[in-house]
Amino acid sequence: MGRRIWPLLLALLLAGCAAPEEPCRRELEAMDTYMVLTVYGPRAGEAAGQGEALLRELEARLSVTEEDSEIYRANHSGGEPVPLSEDTARLLAQALALCESTEGALDVTIYPVVRSWGFTTGAFRVPEEAELARLLERVDYTRVRLEGDSLTLPEGVELDLGAVAKGWAGDRLTELFRSLGITSAIVELGGNVQAMGTRPDGEPWRVAVQAPEGGYAAALEVADKAVVTSGGYQRYFQQDGKTYCHIIDPAAGRPAESGLASVTVVADRGVRADGLSTALFVMGRERAEAYWREHGDFELIFLGEDGGAAVTEGLEDCFTLYGEWEDRPLEIVRR
Ligand code: AMP
Ligand code: MG
Repeated sequence: MGRRIWPLLLALLLAGCAAPEEPCRRELEAMDTYMVLTVYGPRAGEAAGQGEALLRELEARLSVTEEDSEIYRANHSGGEPVPLSEDTARLLAQALALCESTEGALDVTIYPVVRSWGFTTGAFRVPEEAELARLLERVDYTRVRLEGDSLTLPEGVELDLGAVAKGWAGDRLTELFRSLGITSAIVELGGNVQAMGTRPDGEPWRVAVQAPEGGYAAALEVADKAVVTSGGYQRYFQQDGKTYCHIIDPAAGRPAESGLASVTVVADRGVRADGLSTALFVMGRERAEAYWREHGDFELIFLGEDGGAAVTEGLEDCFTLYGEWEDRPLEIVRR
């Protein structure tokens, strides 16, 4: 082996990846989720390494439970203004805009309610009506004051960016990869998939949509899209024969029960897809369709609790039901 090969090999080993033409695949756990980054191109190893570091940084800043995160500090600020990093401020501004546009179906101040159901700690319980009514007085995204990078939360108001953080992470990863000259990558962050460019051979990425009962229900071909699923099956508990999922309807303070098993949003940006997937799951199919007709810069996949599937018309040619779901009727939702 020539002398010049060694430094290259060493660099590749340090990056944890085999050869420049092979993808670099990195698995990690962050933001309470199993994540896989698959990056192609000569700088794939470097990109995956920096990508992991970015995910760790976002987790450390956005966690609701880590005591030195920006969100934790804001939630314990006793009504005083706290400075945010520019990146967190940008995320929060976009999240608040989504809260407004979904008329509070997404509400980033839902945390006290999420916590009381036990979704933060895993100590699940069904809170009393009176307790929920009291907690709901603290839930109102319009009371969040964000002026530049300065955040003020009134006493008792607490933030949880869990509904948008992974989408934001997907967007940030895409930006990072682009800055390193990467044109082909796919990032799986739990129920979020961010497909950058196409596959290295120029074909679209194939993204699987999970079936609520396990396995896959469908496949979707996309390029340069975020594909984000919110599903009742992703996190839930059962008590006295009833299932309670982790997505809360802020109007009721209770887990959403809208007849949907999941809703998948396909959009250009991860943060939008993520915020909307949570909000549209809360809204249910009818309101979600109305929202789609009104906005139209994204597409939807609905899997119903009744086993039915529907997609908005923009996905008609790139969506196929799969496995157990293959022979079920697929409804196309038109504008
Ligand atoms: P996702 O998996 O993106 O649908 O986000 C769900 C997570 O967001 C939950 O685990 C909660 O932490 C939080 N959450 C639940 N319901 C809401 C809601 N209506 N608005 C904002 N965040 C929510
Ligand atoms: Mg979401």
